[in-house]
Amino acid sequence: MIYLDHAAATPVDKKVFAAMAPYFTEEFYNPSAAYLPAKKISADYEAAKGVIAHTIGAKAHDLIVTAGATEANNLAFTAAHGEILYLTTEHDSVRRVAEAKGGKAIKVLPSGLIDLEDLRRQITDKTELISVSLVNNELGVIQPLAEVAGIIREIKLDRMRRGVKQQLLLHSDASQALNLLDVSVARLGVDLMTLNAAKIYGPKGIGALYVAHGVRLEPLTLGGGQENGLRSGTENVPGVIGFAEAVRLAKEHLNGNRKKYAKWKKIFLSELSDYELIDKKHALDNFVVVSFDGIDAERLVFLLEAEEVYVATGAACAASKGVRSHVLKAIGLSERQIAGSLRITFGETNDEIQVREAARIINKAVREERARING
Ligand code: PLP
Repeated sequence: MIYLDHAAATPVDKKVFAAMAPYFTEEFYNPSAAYLPAKKISADYEAAKGVIAHTIGAKAHDLIVTAGATEANNLAFTAAHGEILYLTTEHDSVRRVAEAKGGKAIKVLPSGLIDLEDLRRQITDKTELISVSLVNNELGVIQPLAEVAGIIREIKLDRMRRGVKQQLLLHSDASQALNLLDVSVARLGVDLMTLNAAKIYGPKGIGALYVAHGVRLEPLTLGGGQENGLRSGTENVPGVIGFAEAVRLAKEHLNGNRKKYAKWKKIFLSELSDYELIDKKHALDNFVVVSFDGIDAERLVFLLEAEEVYVATGAACAASKGVRSHVLKAIGLSERQIAGSLRITFGETNDEIQVREAARIINKAVREERARING
């Protein structure tokens, strides 16, 4: 089996699993309870939050733990009651919320990078929240967030001079980023940032929203008042312990993994035949997006599955609904290019032999498919 869809899901790392295990069994207490063993759990929980926060240059109390990135994105948008701008290539968990709140889409360039001119054009005195992901989940493109933050700073200064009171916040969905990027909220200049354990060899259903000091949000759930009253519900202690260990491991292997994936990408592309490279130079090294002319990639995914090679045509949630990628459309690909596009994301389940083998199997499947089409 060769799994090449690490942007959709990553297995829980064995060390992560081991760190979580005691918190399902012996260390099961409710962190809000008053007795000593529960207080220890509460301290472990806070310490784990501290580890997660520290990797992005924040403190434990700056993080609201959520049941995944979708919740964190939804929570981030409660900051805005005025106009919202969002990057057109955002994940549906940003796009759908932004659309529901009347948000307007910012264009991307054919490179997949944010069109900064379009951003400037669309900001008005009523704009309150701008959402731009750090790494796109279909292309792996890394957005120039610090530049976006620079534009926002200019606008804020200008508003101040003119006495315009509207706040202007920058949110970034960094779900795909922590594996290969050294992320600092201060350096990037964000007010809100979404994190996701499920993409970094941590458990699914656990994420967090970084919230800068002074940003006001509305509760996602009402109840016992956990997570500063913004996300009530008994804390997912094993989840957060696992998230912290996953973050620690990601940081430890950051440089080694970058080099490894860059090497694999080169090998893979040199062994693959008759493809058009769609992915961009500002992309993470474990993302490869290619299009095979005249091929129906959905059929290709199915044929590769028979060979136990697992790849994607785009975001898993879009693929399951049979929807064409809004991301590939936004970067200006033709219907024919989109139809033939595969997303391959390397990860920890792979090795160099698998990378070569996958290219060979894909070549064979494409060759046979072309022969079938051409009669
Ligand atoms: N944002 C991005 C960029 C993603 O890739 C994903 C993963 O599917 C999500 C948000 C949603 O994450 P979850 O399904 O864990 O809530």
